[in-house]
Amino acid sequence: MTASDSSTDRRQRLKAKREAALHRPVLARHSEGFTGRWSRRQWAHASLFATLGLLVAAIVPGFGPTSNVQPLHAQRASLALSLPPLPLARLRGHSGDSWQIVRVERGQTLGAVFEDLDLPASTMHRILDAAGGDKAVLTRLKPGTELAFDLPANGELRTFRYDRDDSHRVELALSGDKVTENVIVRPTEMRTVVISGKVGKSLFRSARKLGLTGSNINTLTDEIFKYDIDFNEDVGANDRFSVVVEQTWREGELLRTGPVLAATFTTGGKLHTGFRFERDGKSEYFTGDGRPLKKSFIRMPIPYARLTSNFGTRHHPVLGRTRMHKGVDYAARTGTPIMAAGDARVKSAGWMGGYGNAVVLDHGRGYSTLYGHMSRIGKIRPGQRIAQGTVIGYVGSTGMSTGPHLHYEFRVNGVHRNPLSITMPPPEPLSGAALAQFRAQTSVALARIQKVENIIYADAGEASPAVAQAKKPAKTKA
Ligand SMILES: [Zn+2]
Repeated sequence: MTASDSSTDRRQRLKAKREAALHRPVLARHSEGFTGRWSRRQWAHASLFATLGLLVAAIVPGFGPTSNVQPLHAQRASLALSLPPLPLARLRGHSGDSWQIVRVERGQTLGAVFEDLDLPASTMHRILDAAGGDKAVLTRLKPGTELAFDLPANGELRTFRYDRDDSHRVELALSGDKVTENVIVRPTEMRTVVISGKVGKSLFRSARKLGLTGSNINTLTDEIFKYDIDFNEDVGANDRFSVVVEQTWREGELLRTGPVLAATFTTGGKLHTGFRFERDGKSEYFTGDGRPLKKSFIRMPIPYARLTSNFGTRHHPVLGRTRMHKGVDYAARTGTPIMAAGDARVKSAGWMGGYGNAVVLDHGRGYSTLYGHMSRIGKIRPGQRIAQGTVIGYVGSTGMSTGPHLHYEFRVNGVHRNPLSITMPPPEPLSGAALAQFRAQTSVALARIQKVENIIYADAGEASPAVAQAKKPAKTKA
């Protein structure tokens, strides 16, 4: 098995494991009389929550990059549930069924679509010429794209319709040698909404049902709350989450949902919060008081590896004498990916004598890390800025080594320290103008979340623990 095979394998196994954990039914340990089966009342309640979760999705003014274009009225029940009919292209001719709508499949080209409809290539080229600047939209069709053909009984294409972008639908009418363009404007609307729900039987299913994307849910479990909540153990059916996201809507239809802007998770009566904020051009998640949620260093640069040699004096297996081991060794299969322990600048990446293929990272503030004996180095180059978790290389046995393992060193101001016992430096919190801007954004988002939670959960006799917390940022905001 090659190195890349085993790493793909490994990633797939990890993914399966995480997915299994997410989909695993949760038992309500905090709830009263939960028997593992839901009563009719509980089901009714759950579906009520689901409905309310959507209904009270509220517009959050003044939050996120689109705040300037957002109308500042708080609109409740804002999601248009009765869908207005789509403005269909005028049907020319007497028969109403001359339009053929094609939804593009993965890998399908415009040529293939024309061929399926028995339309000549010359017609396609006329269309492409007429499309002008939109040519790329048609030659690089995305799966799911909708194309429409007005094909009267004679089989000749009368009108071709496509979407230039989310808000412009183009009709090209062919008559004789002439092609006439007609653009239909379909206004889109960005809405910042609060989606709130209970974990229920599965966080993944409940959150999906309420309209969060799989990527939104991964952000909650693997990024924002992963340090504070153990999603395998700590989460019960009555625990709840509220998430602020930006959605793009058109004519009553949800086109897409953006990343998580703010989130709260209440587990066992304890409130956890996280907010997305851009620092130095990079989006990160922070706690309510502006501390990064991400730790400055991850303890182990490879997941689930076995520690085979600790920091300190030891009998060296290759040199055959006692000497100081200036790092820790993790045994892992050749090809296991090695991750950057923290955000860093690549100091060196290449052959380093006894270390074999090695990478040295400079994390700033006097911290640096070294990774040795790699089978090969990842796609990084000296001087490059990389984020925590970036794959910098793969486990191997190059240099002075007896078998595949990672030799990992942690240095503070040039002095070797034990990465397993050293107190890691706290990540740098927001300060100054950034903190003020952060507070202004988060207080608005948190207030909206509470308003929504109070509406959904108030009648269930569960006051939002977020209420007390919410008043804090408002007070500090001078
Ligand atoms: Zn070592």
